[in-house]
Amino acid sequence: MRDLRVDPTVAALLPADLLAALRHGPHPSTYRCSVCEGEGDLATGEATSLVLRRYPHRLVRRVQLVHAECAPSAVTVAPAALADAELAASGSSIVYADLLGIGTAALTGCRPQPLLAVDDDDDLMTTDPRAPGDPGRLRPGELIDPAVSHALATGLALHASLRADPPFVAGWTVRIGPALLDLVHPRADGRQGIERLSHTIPVEWRAAVRAAGNQVTLLVGRMGLSTAVRSPYLPAPRPRSPIPPSPASPSPMSPGHRPAPAPAAWHARPRVASATSPAATFAVLSAVSAGRVAAGRVTVTWAGPD
Ligand SMILES: [Zn+2]
Repeated sequence: MRDLRVDPTVAALLPADLLAALRHGPHPSTYRCSVCEGEGDLATGEATSLVLRRYPHRLVRRVQLVHAECAPSAVTVAPAALADAELAASGSSIVYADLLGIGTAALTGCRPQPLLAVDDDDDLMTTDPRAPGDPGRLRPGELIDPAVSHALATGLALHASLRADPPFVAGWTVRIGPALLDLVHPRADGRQGIERLSHTIPVEWRAAVRAAGNQVTLLVGRMGLSTAVRSPYLPAPRPRSPIPPSPASPSPMSPGHRPAPAPAAWHARPRVASATSPAATFAVLSAVSAGRVAAGRVTVTWAGPD
């Protein structure tokens, strides 16, 4: 039984369907409390407060889950001096990835193909219906996903069906090492951004990618994979250098003008990417059907031994 506490002032500012999804699940389940930095889990009945963080003049607000014992449900306002850093930290890091293949093919009737799903599973960002600005640009209460926005701006396309053939995207590369992978992507300032995450990519997937000419269909979006697969939470420090060493600097997967996240935000982010599971497959299919996923075919390179 989920124990989500929602103050009426918070509930009044959220779309009813979003509130219902948060209250009844199954996703989101696990979260990282922004107060104590520890993990929480709604699915285990942990008492949790819903916090709505407002960013005046920036047209967005963030929906956060925190331990009920750490903070009550409330509407909070980010101080102007902190807003940039906070917004850069949200959506700036890939939290979870999953690999899908045979199971997806069986469900969709497609031929098996190596997919790499990258899920930025952090706080929700929504537009602020009370903020001033151009009402035609963003709809009040509309969910926005910084990772998908960035993907669409750099060549990936909205992916409504796994049967569709996504475009080849030259600017993106997945560099796979023995235990870590780097997602290399273009940034608005012309430099490369690199997102790094742990993985447990199976041998069969590697073989399928090689057979496909070292290309893979990359899916980016909010898919709820952390709930679907329930990976162990790994508060490991972020590795110091890319593999192999690269002249480009690691950066958040966000529009280039944003500052890099503060060092604290780089810890406790990586989670282990899992192997294929039916729950993950279903989560990805649901997100694709809902139009929440961007996709592109990208080049895969290999760093180090398998
Ligand atoms: Zn806490």
